[in-house]
Parts: sequence; structure tokens; C-alpha cells
Amino acid sequence: GASRMTEPVSHALNGTIAVVTVDSPPVNTLAREVRAGLKKSFEALRGDPAVQAIVLACAGRTFLSGGDMREFETGVLEPGYHEVLRLIEDSAVPVVAALYGSVMGGGLETAIACHYRIAQGSTRLGLPEITLGIIPGAGGTQRMPRLIGLERTLDMALSGKPLTAADARAIGLVDRTVDADVTAAAVTWARELVAAGKGPRRTREMTVAGVADAGDAARIVAERRAAAARSFKNRDAYNVLLDAVQAAAELPFDQGIARERELSNRVERAVEGRAYRHLFFAERELRRIPGLPAGVASRRVARVGIVGAGTMGGGIAMCFANAGIPVTLVDAKPEALERGRATMRKNYERSVARGSLDAPTMERRLALIATTLDYAALGDADLIVEAAFESMALKKDIFARLDAVARPGAILATNTSTLDIDEIAAVTQRPQDVIGLHFFSPANVMRLLEIVQCAKTAPEVVMTALDVARTIKKVGVVAKVCYGFIGNRMMDPYGREAERCVLEGATPAEVDGALEDFGMAMGILAVYDMAGIDIGHLTRVERAHLLPADPTFYRATALLVERGWLGQKSGRGYYRYDGPERRRTPDPEAIAMFAAEAARLGVPQRRPAAQEIRERCLVALINEGARILEEGVAIRASDIDIVYTAGYGFPSYRGGPMFYADTVGLQVILDKILEFQKVLDPQYWQPAPLLEKLAREGSSFARWQAESSATSDRA
Ligand code: NAD
Repeated sequence: GASRMTEPVSHALNGTIAVVTVDSPPVNTLAREVRAGLKKSFEALRGDPAVQAIVLACAGRTFLSGGDMREFETGVLEPGYHEVLRLIEDSAVPVVAALYGSVMGGGLETAIACHYRIAQGSTRLGLPEITLGIIPGAGGTQRMPRLIGLERTLDMALSGKPLTAADARAIGLVDRTVDADVTAAAVTWARELVAAGKGPRRTREMTVAGVADAGDAARIVAERRAAAARSFKNRDAYNVLLDAVQAAAELPFDQGIARERELSNRVERAVEGRAYRHLFFAERELRRIPGLPAGVASRRVARVGIVGAGTMGGGIAMCFANAGIPVTLVDAKPEALERGRATMRKNYERSVARGSLDAPTMERRLALIATTLDYAALGDADLIVEAAFESMALKKDIFARLDAVARPGAILATNTSTLDIDEIAAVTQRPQDVIGLHFFSPANVMRLLEIVQCAKTAPEVVMTALDVARTIKKVGVVAKVCYGFIGNRMMDPYGREAERCVLEGATPAEVDGALEDFGMAMGILAVYDMAGIDIGHLTRVERAHLLPADPTFYRATALLVERGWLGQKSGRGYYRYDGPERRRTPDPEAIAMFAAEAARLGVPQRRPAAQEIRERCLVALINEGARILEEGVAIRASDIDIVYTAGYGFPSYRGGPMFYADTVGLQVILDKILEFQKVLDPQYWQPAPLLEKLAREGSSFARWQAESSATSDRA
């Protein structure tokens, strides 16, 4: 008989076909209750003489979409995946899975424990575990190779990318595709199977196709291992995944499952897996803002204005156009508008050439972007983002004009990287509507958006900014006003160490190499060359009165600026950029110049090695992170981790700088600072009070965050 409606899994007879239905909104996650329900239904159907076949179906948005992330904290509760999937696979009558939506991870592992699979045309099927630093752990590494072969399993599991239903059908992962209602089609097909006398077809009883013997499997896996070592530095999960899939070719099914379980447990406990889960949950936390009441309404943003059609303005316009939001782009100069239009078109055309965008969509997006010299055209915008030159006088002038033309309730945002937004807000009659929206270059590509909450910004304006971030597919992190906000502020001491190491006799390639070996997407000196060395230098000149009087402070950088070697745009900076590809190559002349300057200033030539370079840069970064946490510039340690992984090329598999500090241990970080104080510079190296306190208490940023969020929840 049918189970009660309130339970996530029920079953009912349709003639001789039993339909087991999972209905667990929003996305039919394989949570404990769902597994328990599946177990109950399949046990009840086992041996029922009225049942000749079973259809496993779902209600709602999608077939079983994946495992339950919450169980990473608790461990997998009973009944476990293996027990339930074995019960399904053991069925004496054929089991047909009716697939639609996103069939990922544990959802796909369940589908391949069924005997037959039919999928709606729009279904996506994938094993994305590796993107979370883990491996399929519900039999996927053992069943999938038996179903589609070793190579295809590796293609799928190593990339983490989903397949379309058509591709899945082509490789035998699904048997049929339909465009009609998939559950009805599955029932019809189940009847056909029964009529044709087809029994169960158990994946676990198949042999791995495409491998002649164990040596063959070992060879295939070894090739993939070599490729993974090149593409995925420092990533142990790839090796573990390869071990698990290799076991499918070498061991009987049950032993393979045992091996998968052991390997899967190992990666879940490893730093890499924990790091990814940390970032996953950190992203969910971003919208919890102290002082922002839970139900605060956000304002509608249907039209956007942008001031400044340069590098940033154009990229920002593309972000909104991509989301279908009309944009009015204002610049002071007609030629700037022309250039802006041309650049946006060129960027879109590159996507069309790559095949990631079609030409009609490109034209539709470009048509959403109007350009004008007239500020009055911004009168109907719900949000205006200013991206003109980085000058306080100019921005004050622009904000006064915006205050005059913008409709009441419009949000006025600035993309400034370094200026005091409270000061900008003060020239308007509506400081409550002023906020920072700090995009990263290229704005149409980079995922990070720093949302800078000023002293007077209204809660619903912050909420709207968070919603806007979501609409344009950015990850929005709220910061408070300070020089450099979260990202650039922390970058300054990090970069200071890197460039100081150059003055101490390390080559730029040695410095960047040390950081890139750690996993940074790009060494900081190469980043400076890319962004233009003068940019950071000029802000330091302006802020000279606030910076150390030390003549060696950012001296290598200043020297390059004095020579006019401003980075890639001048063909040389910390490196040379010659030849048609403009690849970065060491510049002996620059290196000699640094050495001469070091001699003149009497800087000892320590020639720091890779480990010292890494430690100095990272410890400086973490120490500044602790400072801004204490000041409240960042709300949570995990917000900093999002900023650095999403916007600064910090390796996700290390979880971000603050998570990384916790894994190393705060006492170890503190000891390093105290050591640098002794051997490098007693004035400069000062531990952040919060770091010192947590280290002395044997605590961590994570524990501090949990405790302070518990306090603010109670408040
Ligand atoms: P840009 O020089 O490429 O573009 C600035 C544009 O503003 C020019 O087209 C200029 O004609 C226009 N402009 C100047 N005065 C104007 C006015 N009164 N009214 C309308 N338009 C005016 O500069 P950019 O690199 O795009 O930087 C813009 C802003 O974004 C700056 O505040 C910068 O600090 C910030 N920012 C830049 C980056 C980056 O990497 N380039 C990253 C984050 C933030």
C-alpha cells in the first residue's frame, strides 16, 4: 500500500509496476530520511508477487540531485548509501530509474545501481565530487567503470563536469531519452521489459569494458596520473580518485567497494576535502550580516546606470547586460564611449569565436547597453555604479551630479579601490543610499564583488547589493570602509614581503615561483606587472604619510616606476615581455638594478629561499587578516577566505588564508612572526592582537567565528 504523503518516499502500484517516488523538496537530496524511505519501500516491495518491475521516480524539480552536505559534519547516518543501493540493485525484478533535472554525485550513483535508465532530454548527469576535494563514495568509482568503461569514467570524474542526456545515451550511461513525462515513459518501458522477459541487469555484475587486463588499467591510470600532476598541483584527491577507479578494474566488486570506502574516508578527512567544504559553507554564510534584520526587503533593480566607459565600466556593463538588465553607460568623452563600445563588442566576439556564446545573444546583450554623454539619462536608473578615474575630487563632483539627477531611492555605488566612501557619500543628500561595489578586473569575468557598507548605508541597500551580486552571478562579500577594504588591504603586506625579498637578492622568478608552487594562481610580482606597477605605487605616494618611513619600503617597485618599467604595458617590469607571445622572462638588467640599489641602501643579501619567501608572504597576509577581523572590516574569517579564493587566486584546496592558518596552527603562525621580528625587522613585524590572543588560548579563527556568531545570534 501507499505510504503516508508526509514521508519523503512513497510507493504505489500501477498495474504490476511499482512506482517508488521520492518527494523531498527542494532538490531531492539523498538525506538520511530519503535513504531510510528508499530502504523501507524496496524492502516492502521485495518478494511482493504482485510486482513485476519497479520504477524509481522523483517529484519536484529534479531526480535525486546528490548527497547531503550536512553529513560531512555528522558522518553518514544509518542507513548508509551502500546498504540502500545494494538493496535496490539486488531486486529480483527489473528496476528502472526515471531521470530528469540534475542527477549529480550520489544521485547518479543511485541511478547506476538501478538496472535500467531513461532520461528526459534536458537532464544533466555528473560526478562533481572532485570539485569539492572528495571522490564518489557511494559505489560510483566501482559501478561507473563497469557501465561505461575506465576512460569515460575518468573523463567524467576527473573533470567533475556534467554530461547532457544525449551524451550519456551515446556512451551507454542511459538507455533511452524522452521528451515526454519521464515517469510515465519509464512505466511503459518497464512493462515492455517485463513482456520481453528481461530481468534485472546489475551493474556490479558487468566487467569493466575497454581494458584487456590489469596491466592495461594500470597504464591508462598512470597516464591520467601524470596529466593530473601537471594540471592539478598539490591535489591529492586526484590521485586518490585514480586509485579508486583503478581498483574497479583490478578487484572483485565487493573488495572494490571496500577500497573505495577506505579511500573516500581518507579524502574526506584530509585538508583538501575540508577546505572545499569550508568554502561551500562559507559562501552560504555571506548573506548573514549583523544588524541586517532577517526579513529586510531589497529594492528592485531593473535598470542600471554606469559612469565611466573605461576598463571597469565596460566590464561592469557587460555583467548586467548578461543578466538581461538594461544599462545606460555615461562618459565625459565621446571617444571614450566609442572605445568602450568597441571593447565590449570585442570581448563578446571572443566568446562567440570560442563557441561559448551565439551571435544573436551577443547582439541582444549589446543592444541592452545604451551610451550617452548626458547624465540626465541616468534619471530612471535603480542603481548607478560610478567607475571613473580614481580621484576623490572627481568622484565628489560626480556624486553631487548623480544626487541631482537620480530618482529618489536609487542606489549610488562607487567602484573605487582605495578612496574613503564615507567622504564620497557625504557630498550627497542621501548617504543612506550610497555603497561601494568593488568589482575586480576583468569585471565581466572575475567572480568576486566586495560590497562596501558605509557608516550610513541603509540595511536594505546592503541587502539589494547582495541580491544584485546574485543576479549577476558574483559572490558578494560585505566589507566595511577602510583603505583597500578586505582584499587589497591584505595584499599590501603580502606584496611588501615579496618585493622586499627581491631587494634581499631573490629573483622575481624565485619569489613568484615560491608562491605559485604553494598554489597561488599567479605570483604577486607578475600580478603587479599585469595590473601596472604604477597603480599601487601612486596610491603609496599619496598615502606616504601613513606608511613606514623605511627607505627600503616597496623600494624595488618604486625603482621600476622611476625607470618607466611599468609592467606588461611597457613590455617590462619585474620581468621582460618580449616576442609575439609576450611571455614573462627574467630580466637580468632589472635584477642587476635591484642588487645595486640593495648595496646602496645596505640591505643584507639574505637570498631567501622558497620556504622563507612563502612563509613571509603568507604570514604577513594572515596577520593583516586578523587585524581586519578585529576591526570588523570583515565580518567573518570565512568571508576573507572567499575574497582570497574568488578574487586573488588563493588555492581553494587550501581553503583560503584564514582556514589555511587554522590548519597550520595559530601558534605556529605567531612563532613565525616572533622569529621574523628577531631576524628581519623588530619594528615592522608585530603580531595582530587577535592572532596573538587566539594562539595563546590554543584557539583558531574558526572557533572564534563560531563563538562570536553564537553571541550575535543571541543578541
Ligand atoms: P579607466 O581609466 O579605464 O576608465 C575611466 C573612465 O571614466 C574613462 O573612460 C573616462 O573618460 C571616464 N570619466 C572620467 N571622468 C568622468 C566623468 N566626470 N564622467 C563620466 N566619465 C568620466 O579606469 P578604470 O581602470 O576603469 O577604473 C575606474 C575605477 O575603477 C577607478 O576608481 C579604479 O580605481 C576602480 N577600479 C579599477 C580596477 C582595475 O583593475 N582597473 C579594479 C577595481 C576598481
